[in-house]
Amino acid sequence: MATGIPVIDALIAARLALSLSLRAVGRELGVSAAAIHHLESGNLAAISWDKVQAYGALVGVAIPEERPETPRAARARHVALRLFYCPKPLCVRNHSYWDERGELRVLAMMVRTQRAELKCSGCGEVMESHCPHCDGQVVTSGTFCSSCGKELIPLPPPDSDPLGIRAALAAGCEERSVIQQLLSRETREIPPPME
Ligand SMILES: [Zn+2]
Ligand SMILES: [Zn+2]
Repeated sequence: MATGIPVIDALIAARLALSLSLRAVGRELGVSAAAIHHLESGNLAAISWDKVQAYGALVGVAIPEERPETPRAARARHVALRLFYCPKPLCVRNHSYWDERGELRVLAMMVRTQRAELKCSGCGEVMESHCPHCDGQVVTSGTFCSSCGKELIPLPPPDSDPLGIRAALAAGCEERSVIQQLLSRETREIPPPME
């Protein structure tokens, strides 16, 4: 029963290799067998970190000084990363398509990063992390803001489009199925810049 937490998996493997029971380890550390079981189920806070280090000393596994981050905490931190999109409708990073109602739409492809700001790899424009309508922070990839439901990349109205943005987008429209594939693709993560 691997937890995916290296230090815990190493403890379990070492304990089993030594044929030690949960109760035997608990007795040595002065905690209950249930507490050891909770620890080995992936709950890093089941016993004090001093006790975890004592467990490591008992079975010959090196334990880090500090309690490592749990997968749940790592996920929470991942969610805290910002999503950015390029606000230029014609940028190669974005994709145009016709929706079910025949409306021309632009799908914003997001980049997930820890950086506070980002330039577009497609056109060099400063990327946006907020909705242009409600100023809500973007939290999902797609065409529309998940807060206010309006388009993240607004298009000029059909009757006033001097730059021909709509015509250019319509020419480059992609299959709806392609858009669905793009939407299901994980956003790319950019590591923070090296100092
Ligand atoms: Zn761009
Ligand atoms: Zn919005």
